[in-house]
Formats: sequence, C-alpha cells, structure tokens
Amino acid sequence: MERHDLRNLLHPDLLRQRSLNEDVDRTTLSFYRYVRLEDVEALRNALYQEWEALGVLGRIYVSQEGINAQVSVPTHELSAFRQSLDSRSAFRDVPWKIAVEDDGKSFLKLIIKVKQKIVADGLADDAFDVTNVGHHLDAATFNRKIEEGALVIDMRNNYECMIGHFDGAYLPKADTFRGAIEEVRELLGERVRMCKGEREAEPTVLLYCTGGIRCEKASAYLKHHGFNNVNQLHGGIIDYARQIKDRGLPSKYKGQNFVFDERLAERITDDVVSTCMQCSAVSDRISNCHEATCNMLLVQCEACAAKYANCCSPSCREIHLMPIDEQRAWRKGRSTRSTKTKAINDPEGLRQRIREEEALLVLTGTLHPELTILRN
Ligand SMILES: [Zn+2]
Ligand SMILES: [Zn+2]
Repeated sequence: MERHDLRNLLHPDLLRQRSLNEDVDRTTLSFYRYVRLEDVEALRNALYQEWEALGVLGRIYVSQEGINAQVSVPTHELSAFRQSLDSRSAFRDVPWKIAVEDDGKSFLKLIIKVKQKIVADGLADDAFDVTNVGHHLDAATFNRKIEEGALVIDMRNNYECMIGHFDGAYLPKADTFRGAIEEVRELLGERVRMCKGEREAEPTVLLYCTGGIRCEKASAYLKHHGFNNVNQLHGGIIDYARQIKDRGLPSKYKGQNFVFDERLAERITDDVVSTCMQCSAVSDRISNCHEATCNMLLVQCEACAAKYANCCSPSCREIHLMPIDEQRAWRKGRSTRSTKTKAINDPEGLRQRIREEEALLVLTGTLHPELTILRN
C-alpha cells in the first residue's frame, strides 16, 4: 500500500462539513498504557488500517513506551474496536474512559503518530524509576482524603486549569508539564520542611490531571525526590466525572474539564470558576482567537466574542475581518505564532493592550499600517 493512503489529507473545512452531515452515533473515549512496544512504525500502520475501516476518528500517539489515545468511535463499532485492542497482548483489557458530555463531533479525522514519548513531559526518564508510582485512588476515596485536609495538586498546564479545577487545589503557574512538576517539587519541599519543624506528619498529596497519564510520571518523579505520601486520581478528571455520575457522589471538581479535541471542554458541574479575560464578566466560555496566525486560547464571554469578532484583540479582529484574499496576502511570509505559549496568561495585560489598541484605532483607523502598502 502507498504510504499516503495511511493519512487523511482532506481540507479541515471539508472534514468539518463531513462531520456535521454524518448521521452516526459516536462515543468519545480515551485510554493510555505504558507498555514496551516493538516495531512501532509497522504497528502504527496496522492500527491505522484497522481503525480507519471502523470509522474511528481521533488522535493517537504510539511510541516504544506505550500508547496514548483520544478517539471517537461509531457507537455500533465499539465492540469491534474493543476486539481490535484486545487482539494485541500489549493493549489487552486496557481500561477506557468514556467522555460524559459528548455530541460525537469531537474529532475530524484519524491521526496516528509515532512519537518519542506518549506524553511530551520533558523529563529524563532514565534518571528515576517511572514504575514506582503513587497510590491510585477512586473518586470516593479522593473525596474523602480532600475532606481530611490533603494537599490537592493540579498536574495540568496553567491554561487547562482556568475553567475548572478541584476546590482548593494548588494550580501551577507553568504552561509546560516540566515546569509544573518542578514548581510542585519546590512547593512540597517547603511543606515538608514546615511539617518537620512542627513535628507533624508529612502531608498527604493528591495529584490529578485530565486522564491520569501525567500523574503516572509526576508521582514517580515526586517519589524519586523523597516524597512518600503521594496519591493520584485514577483515570483522571474524565473518569472522576463518570464515577460521580454513576454513584451519585458530590463533585469536588468545579466547572469544566479542558479537553484536547474540538470541544475544548466538557462540563462537570454548573459552577463557573473563571472570568472573561477581556471584560472580567463571569464566564467559562473557552475559545481560540479566530485570527489564524494568533490562535491564542482565552476565556471570552459571548458579548466579547461578538464585540471582537471571536478574536483576542482589536488588532487580530482587524485582520480577521478583511476579505480572505487580503488575509492571505497579509499572512504571506509571516510565520504562525510560536507554540511556546498557547494561552493568554496575563488577562490584565490583555485588557490594557485592548484599551490602547482601541484608542489608537480611533486615531489612525488601522492597527496594521503595513496593510496600506499591501493594498497599493
Ligand atoms: Zn467579556
Ligand atoms: Zn489573537
């Protein structure tokens, strides 16, 4: 088979249209497993062919250290998909987490990538024992330990915590896993020193992340650095939400769960824990700036979305509202924003910038003087 047959090369707009027109019930689910995999490239191609035939969409990473998958499966093919996984010893009985809030439109195509690691964590794995992980807790136990005063730590990136988190959790400021874990290690170091000073027992640490995978590494890393009482939420927020629902437990997670697909978020509780970054109104509507070279994630209320044409700033709005051929001309030779920061992390700074841009716009009529050259 030609290699390009194992990729989907259709245009995103076409894919989006296909997804909207599709009349198939879909189930969004995720799973991961740290497991030694051989001949990853061949495995990747075999999975692509099998799953493409089942109509599976989503994003899957395979590497020598395992698999990490977020997929949307036609509901009538779920058992066939299960069989496909179970037919390989490496993936047999791998537990699924099914998304609670799901319109079946979470992915537009099937992407399977061979990666160095299944999570880009930036950690030197050979420096510590990645299998020496913390205790896995179910939702009920996690809740009980929170009530007993445990230290709850969010192991996600800062932008994932904006629109929802556990009550009272420590939210790292870093926007990378590597940065967050260093921050947590320092925080714990201080806490442990404090406890020793007061002759108290070491604090109970509760880690959580989206699907549980990042806590595997985080807990092993913290244990390697001498913290003993480390626990992690089994199956992450996704499975916590399911357990809460199934067993009628109170949710100590408030708001929405940030997810890595077209939906951006799934609602866990009706609490709104964030404010619009542009006007400070209470809102947990998360969106990407529609100006394609910017694409910054931000919390933006409906009113601001209308006011700024779904953009983060007047400057992006001006570009976004131009005719498409002018936008293309403007973009030419301009690289897309570096992936270094994904989200607005200084809302006060953003509001200041918006005020300045609006004032300048009144004076000069444009925030992009380079456009007059383009137009002539
Ligand atoms: Zn607003
Ligand atoms: Zn923007």
